[in-house]
Amino acid sequence: MKPTRKISADVVVIGSGPGGATVARELSLLGKSVILLERGADHKFYGNLPGCALMLEKLGFGTTMEGHPMLRAMTTGGSSMLYGGAAIDPPPWLKKNYEIDLEPYARMLKEEIGIKPTPDHMIGPKARRIMKAAHELNISWEPMNKFIDHDRCKQKCPECFYGCKTGAKWTARDFAYEAVEKGASLINKARVEKVKIENGKATGVFAETPKEKLDISSRVTVVSAGGLGTPSILLRSGIQEAGDRFFADPLIITYGNAPEDMPDSPKEPPMLCGKLDNADGLLIGDLPEPMPMFLLQMLYLGPGKIKNIRKYPRKLAVMIKVRDEMVGYVKADETCSKHYTQADREKMERGIELSKKILLQAGCDAKSIVTTPPRMAHPGGTARIGQVVDNDLETKIENLYVCDASVFPEPCGIPPVLSILSFGKRLVDTRLKHIL
Ligand SMILES: Cc1cc2nc3c(=O)[nH]c(=O)nc-3n(C[C@H](O)[C@H](O)[C@H](O)COP(=O)(O)OP(=O)(O)OC[C@H]3O[C@@H](n4cnc5c(N)ncnc54)[C@H](O)[C@@H]3O)c2cc1C
Repeated sequence: MKPTRKISADVVVIGSGPGGATVARELSLLGKSVILLERGADHKFYGNLPGCALMLEKLGFGTTMEGHPMLRAMTTGGSSMLYGGAAIDPPPWLKKNYEIDLEPYARMLKEEIGIKPTPDHMIGPKARRIMKAAHELNISWEPMNKFIDHDRCKQKCPECFYGCKTGAKWTARDFAYEAVEKGASLINKARVEKVKIENGKATGVFAETPKEKLDISSRVTVVSAGGLGTPSILLRSGIQEAGDRFFADPLIITYGNAPEDMPDSPKEPPMLCGKLDNADGLLIGDLPEPMPMFLLQMLYLGPGKIKNIRKYPRKLAVMIKVRDEMVGYVKADETCSKHYTQADREKMERGIELSKKILLQAGCDAKSIVTTPPRMAHPGGTARIGQVVDNDLETKIENLYVCDASVFPEPCGIPPVLSILSFGKRLVDTRLKHIL
């Protein structure tokens, strides 16, 4: 039997993704003692597909019960290790409908991290051709804000999704390591089973590593295990409202062969420019995947599509991110079920039509256009404000908070990291620093 180690801190934070790393960093900067528990390892960076697969749940082949692909990373930094680095402002409806103003926190974060729009010199020939086509169709298309230090970015590198080798891409690992520098204890390969609850108050957590069991006592517990991990922990801790319905922002990519007048350009960074207003439920942008990822998508589509690989250097790629409806559930054992509703499918069709129009306008050969199946990459809304947590992110259990993609009260449809970081800063600023 494994030995049990007892430890204590002011705060225990579960999960080192964008939500957890921010809370741990902000509290450590204030001199609070923090234990940060991360289920995944502190993986090294290899900057290639196998290295990326090691960080992903089930090597990237995780799915919902219905078989829809679902990506999430389990490593220090969570899914931000493999994200595209797009920094989109918090949705305005958070302030309008819920009186949650994340804007001041997002502004501070932009300053601290150095978030800036993609500069002109970073936009490669393919992204530029797509932008020109969108403008010709009167679609507003602009450079995105990015979590990227453009001076350090290699530019002709499509590998943000593998984990950035140059360190140009900011990830939540940066905040987790900063917390450690300020005294936080980061414990990797520590899977939290459940929250300890005594007399209606959270008093710590039970976790397990490959070597030992951990019995951790804390004044405050923050669950930041992500859109799928958090509801499972809450369910195992007796909060039965968690995990009821979720959104996942499905992503589809449409590819087409560039016209002959364009030079080959196999290496361009993803998500540089796009249609960022998603009032119609669609965010659209350029998104070339690295070649092995493109190959995997063609394999998904069937043997007939593999020949597309020969033309990879000529492929223009337009992504469609859909604001899907909240349906399905997450269970205590972390399995999840979700289907696409009729409304989701109609939105996807509209997005695909628009992406094809842009590619045709860019000069792509109509016969070469191919669309990938939807992938779920941003699960959230599983411990919603108004249902599982209040506006200050506290659950009905005193001293038990949630801070990650789970708390969004409505579907997002936008890359959510900047909002999640802002939630983390706000939680410490408006609540935790006053009670600790
Ligand atoms: C391929 C890809 C590209 C993306 N691109 C972008 C982008 O460009 N911009 C953007 O804003 N967003 C992007 N996203 C989404 C973004 O990465 C996620 O929404 C974000 O990381 C969620 O943050 P989080 O804190 O909620 O949870 P996560 O990042 O999921 O972190 C949760 C952490 O908790 C740990 N954990 C889970 N269960 C337990 C447990 N029981 N005990 C201990 N630890 C546990 C996990 O291992 C994980 O490290 C992308 C996602 C993917 C997959």
